[in-house]
Amino acid sequence: MAVSKTKPVADVQKVYDWGQRIFGENKVQELCDKYEQLPKDIAWHMIGHLQRNKVKYIAPFIDLIHGVDSLRLLQEIDRQAGKNNRVIKCLLQVFIATEEHKFGLSYRELLDLLESKEYKSLKNIQVCGLMGMATFTENTAQIHREFAVLKDIFNQVRASHFADDPAFNILSMGMSGDYEIAIAEGSNMVRIGSAIFGARDYTR
Ligand SMILES: *Cc1c(COP(=O)(O)O)cnc(C)c1O
Repeated sequence: MAVSKTKPVADVQKVYDWGQRIFGENKVQELCDKYEQLPKDIAWHMIGHLQRNKVKYIAPFIDLIHGVDSLRLLQEIDRQAGKNNRVIKCLLQVFIATEEHKFGLSYRELLDLLESKEYKSLKNIQVCGLMGMATFTENTAQIHREFAVLKDIFNQVRASHFADDPAFNILSMGMSGDYEIAIAEGSNMVRIGSAIFGARDYTR
C-alpha cells in the first residue's frame, strides 16, 4: 500500500499511472480531498488515528481502516457503514512498541473486545486482520521481536476467534524503514510512504 499523506494530487496520479491502486492517508480532510480529485478505482485506506466524529466523512468510500483501537470507534464505524449500506473492512491496531505515544490495544484488550457482546452484535464492519507499528529505533533485533510478537498474536487470534472466517487474513506491519524486517516476520501488507514518494515536507 502506498502512503500518499502530505503529497500533492499530481504525485499520487503519477504513482497511479505506474499501476498502483491502493493508497493510504492519515488525515480525514486530506483523504476526502484526494478521493474527490483522483480516479474512482483507487482503494483508499485510512492509516491514521481516526476520531469518532470524523468517521462519517470517509464511510461512503473507505476501503480499509487500519488503526482501529477501541470498541467505541468500531461501533461508530459500524453505525456509519450501516447508514451507507456498506460493510467496512477494519484492522485492529495492537500496541507492540515501547513508545507510549503509539496507539493500540494490548493482547488482553484485543481479546476483551472480540469477546464482548457489543462487538458480536456489529453487522456493518468486518475485522480483516491486525495492524501494528514497531518502535522507531536502530535496534533491528528489537524491531524483529516486536513484529514477531504481532505475528504470534495474529496467529493466536485467528485460531481462537476467526477459524471459520477466511476474510481475517491481513497483517499490516512495516513502513519504509522497517518493511524488510516486517516481511521477514510475516507481514502481508506493508505501508510504504517515503520510499515511494520521497521524504515528506511537514513545513508546507
Ligand atoms: C506515515 C505512515 C506510514 C508510512 O511511513 P514511511 O516511513 O514514509 O513509509 C506507514 N504507516 C503509518 C501508520 C503512517 O502514519
